Amino acid sequence: MNEFEWMSPGDIEQAARAATSTVADAMVHPDGAAGADAAVLKAGGIDLLDLMKEDLLTPRRIINLRQIAGLERIEPDGSALRIGANVTLAQIAAHGEVRSRFGALADAAGAAASPQIRHLATLGGNLLQRPRCWYLRSRAHRCTRKGGESCFAFAGENRYHAIFDHHGCAIVHPSTPATALVAFDAGLEIIGRNGARRHVSLEQFLLLPQAELHRENALAAGEILTAIVLPLPPQSVRSVHLRFGELDSFDWPIADVAVVLDVVQGVCRKAAVVLGAAAPVPHRAMAAEAQLLGRTIDERLAHIGAQAALQGAEPLSQNGYKLPIFATLVRRAILAAAGA
Ligand SMILES: Cc1cc2nc3c(=O)[nH]c(=O)nc-3n(C[C@H](O)[C@H](O)[C@H](O)COP(=O)(O)OP(=O)(O)OC[C@H]3O[C@@H](n4cnc5c(N)ncnc54)[C@H](O)[C@@H]3O)c2cc1C
Repeated sequence: MNEFEWMSPGDIEQAARAATSTVADAMVHPDGAAGADAAVLKAGGIDLLDLMKEDLLTPRRIINLRQIAGLERIEPDGSALRIGANVTLAQIAAHGEVRSRFGALADAAGAAASPQIRHLATLGGNLLQRPRCWYLRSRAHRCTRKGGESCFAFAGENRYHAIFDHHGCAIVHPSTPATALVAFDAGLEIIGRNGARRHVSLEQFLLLPQAELHRENALAAGEILTAIVLPLPPQSVRSVHLRFGELDSFDWPIADVAVVLDVVQGVCRKAAVVLGAAAPVPHRAMAAEAQLLGRTIDERLAHIGAQAALQGAEPLSQNGYKLPIFATLVRRAILAAAGA
């Protein structure tokens, strides 16, 4: 690990002015290890220090965001719930209103990683962590995401990679809470160097490889993610998050699913079905949602929805096994969210 300077600003503007690069930009480098001139942001530090310990990132300065007051709160915001970017996964999992109104998010956050990591990892850092692809995280491979010419996963080891939307790069998005957040139509609040505040939906913020090959999102250098904003759903809405892992270990899921349903008098009025660890961004299964809308959910319809969720899947040489796992998770999540 390289030597670095440490800075702990007390306000957002100071942090934004000091940040010269995003971590993704700093990792685009011919040698694999990169960012020697970069000043980069740190929240819990779980992913950032991992990259530094692997010598994939060698920043000159680290800007600690943990001393900035106000980013660690969960609070009502009109007809929404506002989760500060520094709120930890453990706080989200335990929060009463998150549990009662956004159950799928509480479950996704509460099952991610290990208890120790959840107490340190922030929701902002979780959404912005870099993918787990072993080629991205290998100094020996200069893949497309680091400015190289090839995605090595296509002809290589791809059992944990994408089954949808892998055009030019086959990563899956690493954030499990993002699966639930997309299903709840979450928005983000971002503040830039000049203090300008912008709002964007999480779905638009996360980018497919066709849009950007070397970064997973639309965060620019000098921008700070300040909050994740969740519109309050009607009381009738129920949600479920299910994940499947290789072992009962503290690791990223192989497949996860969030289903959010509004069932009124037995009829499905609103449906969101989102697949995680399936594509470079959380994958919205619109064909499955269309099957559920306006109908009464039972075993048969849940099975039809689960098959529809796989429409457009293009598994790689080693990851076709994900298809039946996703079908089972989607079917179970639909039935559980519908109370059927
Ligand atoms: C063993 C293990 C198992 C794991 N399992 C899971 C899992 O199942 N599901 C899952 O989702 N994750 C999992 N993780 C990943 C872990 O949850 C993330 O690394 C962690 O959430 C990152 O949050 P952080 O606060 O530590 O971010 P940091 O490491 O501090 O930052 C991550 C990135 O975000 C940027 N950043 C952070 N905050 C801001 C901000 N406010 N504005 C702008 N940029 C910012 C940083 O510059 C950096 O690029 C696992 C990790 C480990 C080690």
